[in-house]
Amino acid sequence: MTSHPQDLRPDTITVSAGRPPRGHDSPVNPALILSSTFHETESPRDGDRIYGRMSNPTWDPFEEALAELEGAELPALVFSAGLGAAAAALSLIPTGGTLVIPRNAYGGSISLAEAEAAKGHLKLIQVDIAETAEVIDHLHGAHMLWIESPTNPMLEVAETQSLTEAAHAVGAVVVVDNTFNTPLISRPLDYGADIVLHSVTKYLAGHSDVVLGALVTSNKEVRAELKTHRTLHGAIAGPFEVWLALRGLRTLALRMDRSQSNAMELATRLASHPAIAKVRYPGLHKDPGHQRAKDQLKGFGGIVSIELESREAADALVKSVRLWLPATSLGGVESLIERRRRQPGEPVTVPESLVRLSVGIENVEDLWADLDQALSTSAGQTG
Ligand SMILES: *Cc1c(COP(=O)(O)O)cnc(C)c1O
Repeated sequence: MTSHPQDLRPDTITVSAGRPPRGHDSPVNPALILSSTFHETESPRDGDRIYGRMSNPTWDPFEEALAELEGAELPALVFSAGLGAAAAALSLIPTGGTLVIPRNAYGGSISLAEAEAAKGHLKLIQVDIAETAEVIDHLHGAHMLWIESPTNPMLEVAETQSLTEAAHAVGAVVVVDNTFNTPLISRPLDYGADIVLHSVTKYLAGHSDVVLGALVTSNKEVRAELKTHRTLHGAIAGPFEVWLALRGLRTLALRMDRSQSNAMELATRLASHPAIAKVRYPGLHKDPGHQRAKDQLKGFGGIVSIELESREAADALVKSVRLWLPATSLGGVESLIERRRRQPGEPVTVPESLVRLSVGIENVEDLWADLDQALSTSAGQTG
């Protein structure tokens, strides 16, 4: 790992980590290495590159940078996608073992867990992750607790530390999907989580131009098992995607700051807009997750979910925006808007009239003006 003269702050680490060693004429950025195979040596050593499904030099700087940001003692593992990383994490559950997962976790993670459960690979218990006592009740005999907080797109906030301690007390592995927060807002390894998952596709890469995932852990045996899964399942990232992700990571702190301040301003204005039935944003004082978010997180994030009067009004809003982009995904520089239930895989606990806003880094007045005009246009639509 790149050695630093002192303990650096996270926003500095995003800029300084994963750079090549200093030296005469040495580049300041890591090279993009496109090679599927590597020269054999006469005396093979542990960690030799061998073949591109096992390792690639372009993965290393990103894996080191992400580990440094998450406070991990071992390099992260980059995967083909967030769900590729999720599949590797689920593979730690022994056949027939129990997984406890938030009812409103990211739809893809739930679909994957349900598919595994349908084949008898695991037993699935879905919980309301904000209800600490309910979650703890279900942990008995569990092999893995999956935490997502705030959840996507309901933005429920969990008591992550208590849940992690309760899971460890029964010997369960704790996986935290930290995609929404990024390590700038929360570092799950610090409160004892075993594995951190990222959809790097979102904030870390930040430009909606790569699909990528990652796992971070400080446990040597766990990391080795996850890496073997990655190699044998071929869930590997293309070097160019990883190179782009490190480039994106350099501006993470600036993007998060802007996205969060925009989100706070828009959530506040939306909360008093007559066309909006409900605003979900942990930054709002009235939000049920506000106190927990304040206690546990270093920010409230860039995602705001709103509920309109009806599904029709929600569809009309999405159809009427001109600057916001109607598209799924989140965490990019551009603001995206989506009625989540239009996705067939979305949990039915997500209201039909819910629209998720991924707030980008544009000028907040332009974002507001566009939402406001679209809300007036859609106000005439009734269920
Ligand atoms: C997008 C997303 C994932 C899945 O990641 P992919 O990169 O799309 O495979 C997992 N968790 C959360 C919270 C997400 O937003």
